[in-house]
Amino acid sequence: MTKHKPGQGLVIAIDGPAGVGKSTVGGLVAKSLGYKFINTGEMYRALTWKGLERGLDLNDHAAVLALAKSLSWEFKPVEDGGTTLKTFIDGSGVTMQIREERVSVNSSLVAGNPGVRRFLSKLQRELGVNKAREAGGIVMEGRDITTNVFPDADVKIYLDASPEERADRRYRQLKAADQEADRDKILAAILKRDLNDLKREINPLKQAPDALLIDSTSLTLRQVADKILRRIRRDARRGGDVQ
Ligand code: C5P
Repeated sequence: MTKHKPGQGLVIAIDGPAGVGKSTVGGLVAKSLGYKFINTGEMYRALTWKGLERGLDLNDHAAVLALAKSLSWEFKPVEDGGTTLKTFIDGSGVTMQIREERVSVNSSLVAGNPGVRRFLSKLQRELGVNKAREAGGIVMEGRDITTNVFPDADVKIYLDASPEERADRRYRQLKAADQEADRDKILAAILKRDLNDLKREINPLKQAPDALLIDSTSLTLRQVADKILRRIRRDARRGGDVQ
């Protein structure tokens, strides 16, 4: 699985459906290896949020692409000891704003915009290559990282779990944070997002033929991360060139 060349940073790509734990797992793997972690969904969300703030019609592909190109995009570490790179647009962090319900609901319009996908994929590739050089490696997660952004990634993971399990996890998270939660509504939203991701014309969510499939339905996210780390270390022993 590992195609790593000496002197280059390792690229670990993770794809999978909404709510499957890609960020938690990706962060754990990156932290263990001293790499940087990048969540590409944040970029689609940040653009969606900015478009909504500006009152743009998100179906207007040309206008949304023009907005994407007009923004200054930066990715800076802000938490967990510098592992995770967060998205900043025009100098401001957007971590809280991009979790708003209106952003979650509308982000599929932006994610289905071919020009925007080309623009953000290029940004993600450049960012990944630069940070992999600087940090010795990166973990990047999204929907099309193994198939489109880094089809030649050193390690490719497709993380899956049943919609019911993903809805249950989200329900438990909200309850633990003393927030309102309706399991049926959560499940319906997950099924709708799955459909959007799988049916998208450009760069839909799909398992790359050479990706390692991990079904996390009956695993903790720590166990998933450990499984990935074991695979990377086994490949490293075989290849002899990855730390
Ligand atoms: O992962 P998250 O749910 O935060 O992603 C936000 C939006 O961006 C979703 O609509 C998702 O389908 C889209 N996305 C994408 N390609 C990626 C990452 C996210 O289309 N690589």
